[in-house]
Amino acid sequence: MFSTLGLSPETLHSVHRAGYQKPTPIQSAAIPTILDGHDLIGIAQTGTGKTAAFVLPLIERLTKMPRNGKAPRALILAPTRELAAQIDEAFITLARQHHLTRIAIFGGVSEQPQIAALRRGVDVIIATPGRLIDLMARHADLRSIKYAVLDEADRMLDMGFLPQIRRIVDALPKDRQTLLFSATLSKEIESITKQFLRSPKLVEIGHRTPTSTVEHALYPVAKAKKLDLLLQLLRDSKLESVLVFSRTKHGADKIARKLMSAGITTATLHSNRSQNQRTAALAAFKQSRVRVLVATDIAARGIDVADISHVINFDFPPQPDDYVHRIGRTGRASATGDAISFVTPDDEDSVRALERLMKRKIERRTVPGFDYRESTIVSVRTGFSRSPRPSEAGPHTRTMPRPGTPASRRPSPKPTDSRKSARWSR
Ligand code: ADP
Ligand code: MG
Repeated sequence: MFSTLGLSPETLHSVHRAGYQKPTPIQSAAIPTILDGHDLIGIAQTGTGKTAAFVLPLIERLTKMPRNGKAPRALILAPTRELAAQIDEAFITLARQHHLTRIAIFGGVSEQPQIAALRRGVDVIIATPGRLIDLMARHADLRSIKYAVLDEADRMLDMGFLPQIRRIVDALPKDRQTLLFSATLSKEIESITKQFLRSPKLVEIGHRTPTSTVEHALYPVAKAKKLDLLLQLLRDSKLESVLVFSRTKHGADKIARKLMSAGITTATLHSNRSQNQRTAALAAFKQSRVRVLVATDIAARGIDVADISHVINFDFPPQPDDYVHRIGRTGRASATGDAISFVTPDDEDSVRALERLMKRKIERRTVPGFDYRESTIVSVRTGFSRSPRPSEAGPHTRTMPRPGTPASRRPSPKPTDSRKSARWSR
């Protein structure tokens, strides 16, 4: 019960209005610990409510302490713009009974409104490390920060943010409460907790295995047939709201073009797209205006979309942890969801690693009636791809490298597999 965690009636009211009936395990464990003033390491898999686990006690602590002029008192670092925006929304929802001001600071949009908000004064800064560093010198005064949160710490490290995080944390007062949340507790995470936290309490929930409400299946397929198989699967209308993971941005664009040319409403989410495009893509998917969202791991990290019916790993994730993160998007809050993974012979090692983590075999499925044979209409001329079939020809289709494209940016045929890369290069 939320009412036993030490939250005030105002905060409980917001929790109730948010529709939360009972706290998740990480919330039950973390909220009283944070209210007691301890540093905390919170480990729980994606989708388990880590945001509210720190937002609720922060609201409580911030409203109980006097303001110190205009200076911000809490700083939350998150790896991506989407996550910063999501934490910001959680504050809006959960702090509606309180007068707390916030600003989300991230790149890809104009600095000016962010600078203006900092100048007016805010209680809480929610930031990605890069943009905060840009604003730190002149605009963001961190000397009054009493609460620091490193959210999705594992992904921030994966993204190479450690030097920036260190610079930011070095600018904070020593006398502060620091909270770190992560889906995994790796050696690197342990090492940074030693540097940035003081006698932290560790709250670790469950195992890093994917949610049990999700049905997992592997679809063995040749690399060259993946797009066709995806189209085939999408003929099934049960796949209502589908998140497709691609290993690369380029691959994500290619998948999206193929789906759109087949008349399937699709949006893409990756870091080559502008902030406006990313926001629009996510909104379109959340509001079910598009059926498919094609994303890369980094862009989709932690995004929270209700009602994803299926996650499709178009490219199998090399690390089991990434699988867990991806699949955390579906089957949330015990709605059942399906996780479909395309696997090629190259993925076998990764599949075995995942099966070891899940401690069971994952079912292999074939799609009845699907032609798994690789087509034989291939013309191989090194450096050129075959002409596209009419169904693939779209405004973006190219059969030759664009004049002036630096050679290093062209896909280079792999020596062992020149036939396939020649077919799939654009
Ligand atoms: P995590 O950070 O662990 O990946 P989030 O904080 O993004 O997870 O929460 C996932 C979803 O669960 C969000 O939509 C959030 O609103 C919802 N949620 C959080 N806490 C509760 C709760 N106690 N009851 C119901 N839903 C919750
Ligand atoms: Mg989170």
